[in-house]
Amino acid sequence: MASKRDYYEVLGVAKNASADDIKKAYRKKAIEFHPDKNPGDKAAEEKFKEAAEAYEVLSDADKRARYDRYGHAGLDGMGGGGGYGAGMDMEEILRRFGGMFGDDDIFGSFFGGGGGGFRSRQPRGERGSNLRVRIKMTLEEIATGVHKKIKVRKQVACNTCHGSGARDSAGVETCSTCRGSGMVNRITQTPFGHMQTATTCPTCSGSGQTIKSPCNVCKGDGRVFGEETIEVDIPAGVHEGIQLSMSGKGNSGAKGGPAGDLLITIEEMPHEEFSREGNNVVYELFVNIADAALGAQLEVPTLDGRARIKIPAGTQSGKIFRLRDKGLPELQSRHRGDQLIHVNVWTPKHLNDEERRLIEKLRDMPNFKPSAGKEDRGFFDKIRDAFNS
Ligand code: ZN
Repeated sequence: MASKRDYYEVLGVAKNASADDIKKAYRKKAIEFHPDKNPGDKAAEEKFKEAAEAYEVLSDADKRARYDRYGHAGLDGMGGGGGYGAGMDMEEILRRFGGMFGDDDIFGSFFGGGGGGFRSRQPRGERGSNLRVRIKMTLEEIATGVHKKIKVRKQVACNTCHGSGARDSAGVETCSTCRGSGMVNRITQTPFGHMQTATTCPTCSGSGQTIKSPCNVCKGDGRVFGEETIEVDIPAGVHEGIQLSMSGKGNSGAKGGPAGDLLITIEEMPHEEFSREGNNVVYELFVNIADAALGAQLEVPTLDGRARIKIPAGTQSGKIFRLRDKGLPELQSRHRGDQLIHVNVWTPKHLNDEERRLIEKLRDMPNFKPSAGKEDRGFFDKIRDAFNS
């Protein structure tokens, strides 16, 4: 392997450069050697890759510290599939690093919307807008994941013109501004000099065509309002507010352009019996004094159906029983939360004569004094008392 240049030297910064200086230096190099600006120039491409590799290391505090200490050797085996020194993949660099300029006015047009410099130059119409829907989910559905069919009102491709917006094939002509390419070159002034950027043609919105005689139904837009039934697979383990996106299922693009995305926001419906704590579900169990004192076999609901649990004799209010793996699954994992059963000892609110007689009889019994039975409390109860005192 050829000897590698020092990363600080590659970016032209001092060893003690700040993170901000490193970012700025990288931007400068990235623009100077960007493949869109140096088409077919192998040397520029190598420099672009070299700068990207240097930036990836120096922008990461951990990797930078290793590099400072051990040099290039300190990074061997790091970086997963990316690989150091083996030459990074160009598309990957553009994808990973293009995004950092996405929000920046100066670089925005140059790097596109985070997709890097290699954008498809195929003539096409304007992209459709994203469509937002909310889907209500029960805890049972969240536990298993669900396949749903949802009906949405949205802009769909016009059936009459098949989305083209033209009355017939003779109704379109090549756009005179961009000569059919859908893109125009623009020279922009930046702090780093003049830069030629390719942008979407303003006349045809990138379709490369202008419409001479528009479709009667959609008036040349290529789309109309309609309804579509969309099948969505919602994975197990989602939660309130999480957003899922389905690319290309949003509103149709104008004049045959690509559709936007469908953005699905999950709404978690309140459950009659359970509340949710992360991936655990909580069930409030009410037991009567007799069951709490004598112990009992009781049935409780779970997300998977009913389950029997055993309440030991002498169970106190506030005791929590745990049913392992009866909670909600973690998103994209096989791990499942638990069901927590909170015990509440039920005190009767109304008593008939017989009940009153029995309770009154019990009242003065030695084991019915709240202080009784302290000697056989569990270890954890004692610890809890110690913290509460
Ligand atoms: Zn039409």
